[in-house]
Amino acid sequence: MIPVHSRKRQYNDGSPNQHVKRQRVESFHSDEVSPSFESPPLNQPRRPPSQRVVSGTSCGTTSDMGHYSSLSAHKLDHVPKSPETPNDLQLYANDKVSAQMVELFEACRQQLSDLYRKETFRAQLQKDIQSLYPDARLYLTGSTMSGLGCRSSDADLCLVLRLRKTYDKAINVLSALLKLLRTLAYVDRVLLIRATVPILRFKEKGSNLEFDLNVNNTVGIRNTFLLKSYTHADIRIRPLMLVIKKWARHCEINDASKGTLSSYTLALMALNYLQIVRPPVLPSLQRDHPSCFHPSLDLDMIPNGSQSVPSYKSKNKSSLGDLFLGFLKYYASTFRWDSEIISVREATTLPKNAFPSWKSKFISVEEPFEKHNVARAVYEKDKFDTIKEKFAESYKILNEKKDLNSLLPLGTIIHKEQTGC
Ligand code: ATP
Ligand code: MG
Repeated sequence: MIPVHSRKRQYNDGSPNQHVKRQRVESFHSDEVSPSFESPPLNQPRRPPSQRVVSGTSCGTTSDMGHYSSLSAHKLDHVPKSPETPNDLQLYANDKVSAQMVELFEACRQQLSDLYRKETFRAQLQKDIQSLYPDARLYLTGSTMSGLGCRSSDADLCLVLRLRKTYDKAINVLSALLKLLRTLAYVDRVLLIRATVPILRFKEKGSNLEFDLNVNNTVGIRNTFLLKSYTHADIRIRPLMLVIKKWARHCEINDASKGTLSSYTLALMALNYLQIVRPPVLPSLQRDHPSCFHPSLDLDMIPNGSQSVPSYKSKNKSSLGDLFLGFLKYYASTFRWDSEIISVREATTLPKNAFPSWKSKFISVEEPFEKHNVARAVYEKDKFDTIKEKFAESYKILNEKKDLNSLLPLGTIIHKEQTGC
């Protein structure tokens, strides 16, 4: 069982709206996946457009959500292409480590076929759940949708439904779903995990594809869109994040259920480094485009795809390898764990002493919407020390050897991703 200091948490303002929602896929180039959230019309009247402009980019109108595109193959031909191409990435890969990072990224990133499989499963499951909860809607979140997914990534699902009196707790809904899912032929090994954010964990029958389903933890839908927007702001983010995740997993510091860092925490740590490095690789998207990321934005108003958020033109031209080395060095020697809070929302660090409740935390990483500590799983001193040691040790090795293989068994990782074993 996952301890209470788990990677997900209870969310309590789930307010499903009248519009049924689906998700669609954009493709950068032939096999690349960058899914986006989108509201379909689905025989429901659209609400009148109500342009919300706080400042910066205007987002979150039903009218600017774009047309609905299903996941059927023929539709993908008409999907807008992103300027990103492998050639663009080569601009940042002129040294050995960077070239190895591109190779790892190309071999491990989630493929369009992986996304189709998850989406097909989601759509079928939503239908089955609607036999119990007619207004329920199921959203794919996490790395599947943010652009940070690997071939082996699990699929995170958020079930959004109006909680009635008799079903007033997520845990009760999950208990009812547990029974339902155990009757479904395409679902296997269903477990109820009573964590801070309780989830159902299950697999697709006959495969290793794993799903984590929560109820009304809708902050995950908002922050998945935020991460996705950051991955679109600069072409280097996805390969860098993928390598960071593989590195952390290899070092055994990427598992919140074992007291180390969740992938989401690592992603925020990496983004914050990229905001702080000079010149910055990334801005604060929440500060520059508040209307796109307003925490109370209706779920169906969350913008359709990254084109709503303009890409950021950074003056920082560092290679992928230099950014990875810089990330390791920053957390090995510059960042002050005892006195700083990582804030992607502010694109800086905040002083811990201004926030008394954060003082006792080993690692402080602010959730960009709800502002809680996403690194609360790290509550044991020895785990915290191991994390810091891994940063210091890895920086030293990579700086000396200038070869990613000195940190990660690239061949083994690539083989594992491609064969699934
Ligand atoms: P992986 O590919 O390893 O599964 P991931 O990007 O899906 O990585 P997870 O740590 O599994 O990352 O988290 C999945 C999603 O759950 C995140 O993208 C985020 O939306 C949400 N999430 C996770 N932890 C928190 C948290 N503490 N607070 C709010 N949302 C969270
Ligand atoms: Mg995940």
